[in-house]
Amino acid sequence: MHDLLVAAADLLLGARCPGCDRAALTLCRACGVAISPAPAVCQPLPTSRAAVPSSSALRPVPTVAAGINADVLRLVLLAWKEKGRHGLTTNLAHLLAASVATHAATGHPLVLVPVPTSRRSKRLRGVDLVDSLAHSCVQLLREVGIDTRTTQALAYARETADQAGLGALDRRINLQGAFRLRSGRRLAGRDVVVVDDIITTGSTVAEAVRVLTDAGHRPVGIAVVAATPRAC
Ligand SMILES: [Zn+2]
Repeated sequence: MHDLLVAAADLLLGARCPGCDRAALTLCRACGVAISPAPAVCQPLPTSRAAVPSSSALRPVPTVAAGINADVLRLVLLAWKEKGRHGLTTNLAHLLAASVATHAATGHPLVLVPVPTSRRSKRLRGVDLVDSLAHSCVQLLREVGIDTRTTQALAYARETADQAGLGALDRRINLQGAFRLRSGRRLAGRDVVVVDDIITTGSTVAEAVRVLTDAGHRPVGIAVVAATPRAC
């Protein structure tokens, strides 16, 4: 039956697996296996450290990525972000959930704080993808008994340039002071985990950590779907 559906989808819609370009409704089984979560701690990023106020002797916030932004996972993320394949959100939420779960060892309830999506990106994609990802991730974590919720505690304080194409230093400068705390109300009594789809230089999550820390909500961790090869 599934094969018939795939054949029909290919004929009528030209549906293709984003990982291998074979006929498939969403992600084919082989590519699904290829992007199985393998959470790994990224080394503390220089930008994460630099973003922490020098007056505080705080340890870097650990960053966990469920995969490397390369090969099949890179193609899946590209299709999801740039080609409107939003049906892949659940697939990617499994990876994010695996990363978040590594920060749940203490058993404290968690609250996810997605990095804010710029107005430009929302306009371009018609949806806040990272927020959708966080909601899907919460559902998955609740199914395995991890008390989690998500809240958009951060917002853009000003417009920024598109990060794509900028180097590490320019990314950091571009994002300095870019975020503000919208509300810390739903963070109380929970371990805060900053979530994003991809970590490249770490400047985006570092700015999120800085704003949350300054507001008294120091995150226990950062969790992402994938890291660029040089970030981990
Ligand atoms: Zn495939």
